[in-house]
Parts: sequence; C-alpha cells; structure tokens
Amino acid sequence: MATKKLSGYDAVIVGGGPCGCVLAKDLAIAGKKVILIEKGGNTLKGLGSMVGMVSGKHMESGRFLNLFPSTIEGQNVVLGTGIGGGSYLYAGIVGMPLFAPFDEIGINLRPHLEEAKKESWVNQTPDSFIGPTTRRMLEVSNSIGIPFEPAYRHIKFDHCKYSCKEAMFGCRRHAKWMGYYAAQEAAEHGAELQIYTKVHSLIVEKGEAVGVYARGVRDKQNYEIRGKTVICTSGGIGSAAVLMHSGIRTAGLRLFGDPTFGTWGVLPKGSMKSHFYEHGTSISYMDDENGLLFSTMISFPRIFWAGYQLAEGGISGFFDVYKNYPLTISIFNKIHDEGVGRITWDERVSKTTTPKDREKMNYCRYVNSKILIAMGCNPTEIRHIAFDHKKGGLTYGHPGGTCPIGVVVDSNLETEIKNCFVCDISSLPGAPSRPPMLTLVTLTKWFVPRLLERLG
Ligand SMILES: Cc1cc2nc3c(=O)[nH]c(=O)nc-3n(C[C@H](O)[C@H](O)[C@H](O)COP(=O)(O)OP(=O)(O)OC[C@H]3O[C@@H](n4cnc5c(N)ncnc54)[C@H](O)[C@@H]3O)c2cc1C
Repeated sequence: MATKKLSGYDAVIVGGGPCGCVLAKDLAIAGKKVILIEKGGNTLKGLGSMVGMVSGKHMESGRFLNLFPSTIEGQNVVLGTGIGGGSYLYAGIVGMPLFAPFDEIGINLRPHLEEAKKESWVNQTPDSFIGPTTRRMLEVSNSIGIPFEPAYRHIKFDHCKYSCKEAMFGCRRHAKWMGYYAAQEAAEHGAELQIYTKVHSLIVEKGEAVGVYARGVRDKQNYEIRGKTVICTSGGIGSAAVLMHSGIRTAGLRLFGDPTFGTWGVLPKGSMKSHFYEHGTSISYMDDENGLLFSTMISFPRIFWAGYQLAEGGISGFFDVYKNYPLTISIFNKIHDEGVGRITWDERVSKTTTPKDREKMNYCRYVNSKILIAMGCNPTEIRHIAFDHKKGGLTYGHPGGTCPIGVVVDSNLETEIKNCFVCDISSLPGAPSRPPMLTLVTLTKWFVPRLLERLG
C-alpha cells in the first residue's frame, strides 16, 4: 500500500487527550491549519456505562483479559484513549495548579488560570451535593485537624445528578467536562481529526521536525503528515515513545504515577449509610506540604466496588466487600511520588516505589484510619487497599513526567529537535500529587500564544 502524504499544516498535533483537544481548538479558532492525530476513535459510544471502558473504545485494555494494562512489575496503569483521552474516564476532581514548580523553570501560569477554569468547567461542589454521611465526614475530619473541604470539580452541577455513579464511565448528562467537547469545536473551526491513526516517530530534516510518520490502526495505511510544527500531546507514555523513536535519548527515562490507594471501614448499624449512595469525591483535602491527596471515594456501583477488590481479596474478599457495601465509607489517596520509573521502547511502563513513597503511603493509611475511627468504624475492621507489594494492587492513574521541562523540553516546551514541542502530562516537571487536569489545561493555555507567535 502506498504511503499517504498529507501536508500544509501549521500544527500537527499528536494525541487527542485534553491537552491536544484544547490546543487544536484554540489554534483552529486563531485561523491555523491544524490536524489532530489520535490512535483511538472520536465517539461517545458507551457513555455512562462500563461498556465504553471495557470495550477498549475509551480505555486501553490490558493484556490477557486484564481490565487495565499493567506495569512490568504487575501494577495497574489506567489510560484513556480516543478523542478526549483520559478526560473521558477521569473523576473530574479539580486540583488547583501549584505555581511554584513552574515559577522555578520560568513559566508563569497565573495569567492563564481563569481561562483554563472556564474552559474546563471548574465549579465547587454545592451544598446540595454533599450528602449526610459525607457532611459528617467533613465535620469529623475537621474536628480532628484534617481540613477536608467541598471539592472543586470539572462539573456543571446544574446538569449533574446527585448520587450519580457514572462519572468514571463518561457522563451521559454532559455535566462533566471532557476534551472531546473542545475537539468537536476544533473541527467546527476547520481542524482535521485524523482518528485511528498512531504516530510512530517524527520526520526530521536538517535537524528540524517537519512532520510525523504514522500508521492506520485499523487499515494499516502508512502516512507521512507534514507541517510547520509538531506538538506531542500523546500523554505520559505516548509522547515519550514518539520522542524515543525519534532519537531523543532522554525521553521516557523517568516517570511519576501518582499512585492511588485507599482505606475503607464499616459504619456501625444506625442512622448513617454508606456515602456510596451520595455524591462521590465531593470532599477532599490536599496536603501540599507532604504532597498527599485525601478524598472520599468515587461512588462506585456495588458490583464494581466489590469486583475492584477481587485481585487483592479473592472470592471471599469480593463477598465480604459486597455484603458490607451499604455501610461502607472509604477514603482514597494519591501521593506525589519520586518519579522512579521509565517507558520501554515498546511502550510499556516500569515503575517502582521508593522508601519515601512508601513512607507517604503509610502516613495516608494512618490518617485515613483516624478519620474512619472517628466516624465510628471499628479499628479492627478497617481495610487498606492497593498495596505496592501486591501485584495488581496499586493503580497509576496519572503516568507522566516522562519528557519533563528542563530535561527533555526547554521552558518553551520545545525539544532539542526544533519545531517539535511537548505539551501534556509528560512535560510536567514533577508529580502533581493532585488531580492534574486543571494544571494541564492551564499549561496548554499558556502555550497557545507562544506557539502562535512561533507560527507568525
Ligand atoms: C481513571 C482516571 C481518573 C482520573 N481522575 C482525575 C481527576 O479526577 N481529576 C484530574 O484532574 N485528573 C484525573 N485523571 C488524570 C487525567 O485524566 C490525565 O492526567 C489527563 O487525561 C492527561 O492528559 P494528556 O492530554 O496529557 O494525555 P491523555 O489524556 O493520556 O491523552 C493522550 C491521548 O493520546 C493518544 N495517543 C497516545 N499515543 C499516541 C500515538 N502514538 N499516536 C496517536 N495518538 C496517541 C491516546 O490514545 C490518548 O487519547 C484521571 C485519570 C484516570 C485514568
């Protein structure tokens, strides 16, 4: 089959995650000729149900019947795919960007924050979405010095339904922001969405990026797609792989993952019920001094919550969790990890935790227990989930930092190959230890005027 040649673009954007979608939209609105290349599709099929996830339309599936891809060491990596990328699956929790790490590398994100908040529908959880058990947790945790507060979310609450359990499977009420919406706007302004096409590497001529080599995922068509600039927005694994395949030797040699783990307990029988019947992740606490996130758990459906713990608890664990669901309360955590990990040439993830990471995880478990005990849970019945020493335990939901600013890209987000940029979670200088979406959208908003200046 002859290689198909597409050319004449101002911007060749590689990867349709939230960063790629917002970038495509803003450049298209500015009148630039844009192509957004995405290895998945452009669909909302399965929105609001597990079908969209497990069918591989919106989430990368694991090998050998595993729901998630696993690291070489056997932990889970959750990755979105298709136009919208991880924003299809995310919980929509907002982490306000921490400016200091960007200040240190000469990037001032502050002037772009408001625009990013507007773009990604940032709103604080209203009172009416905080249920009685969650409110009790808010009061109890505050009274023991753990300052939980109503969470900010990427949600339009006037479109949202209290106690909905679907956010993680895509929101069928269109209340949760997704990059998908920005991409559709980009297309309305003339951007081309080249789907089911996977980029392999850059086309480099005279030391400058002039396009990409790509291949159809379904039809195996080979492509050469040329433009004035190439921007990698393929996420923590994809961007590093494209650069690695293009001869950038420092790409993919480090990796943060913001490991996710948590704790659950069983409320005494009485007036309170599980917060799973209330609105999920509606209160949170970000301990920036230590790089820790505490949040009430996503309101998983009963069967999903029990199934989620099969890997660690086995069949008896499954029934135990299922039985206790009506009285279960749970806190999940993420930590700012030390970024020890890498991407392999064939796009797998290798990641280990360090003693410092483990110290943070144990501290979180201790704080979680304190809250659950204060809520009335019996200390001996408190269960901690997702251990780094058990295969399939820990989940890395934010793999990134694989092409960090200061190492792989400079403070203009440009690589050593001129006109090739990286603007996504892989270019972050370190683990955010907090939900990264708003930081990523803000970074994209910061990047747009700079790229437009380069494009003249
Ligand atoms: C389950 C889950 C829950 C989360 N919850 C939250 C939350 O509540 N709040 C928050 O702020 N963040 C959350 N996140 C994190 C957030 O979704 C990601 O950090 C974010 O999506 C990263 O954006 P990105 O643009 O860097 O890349 P991604 O979203 O990873 O998108 C990259 C895209 O590029 C495509 N791609 C990859 N390689 C190639 C290639 N070679 N060629 C073409 N296309 C390619 C992929 O298919 C994908 O669509 C969550 C993530 C997960 C998985």
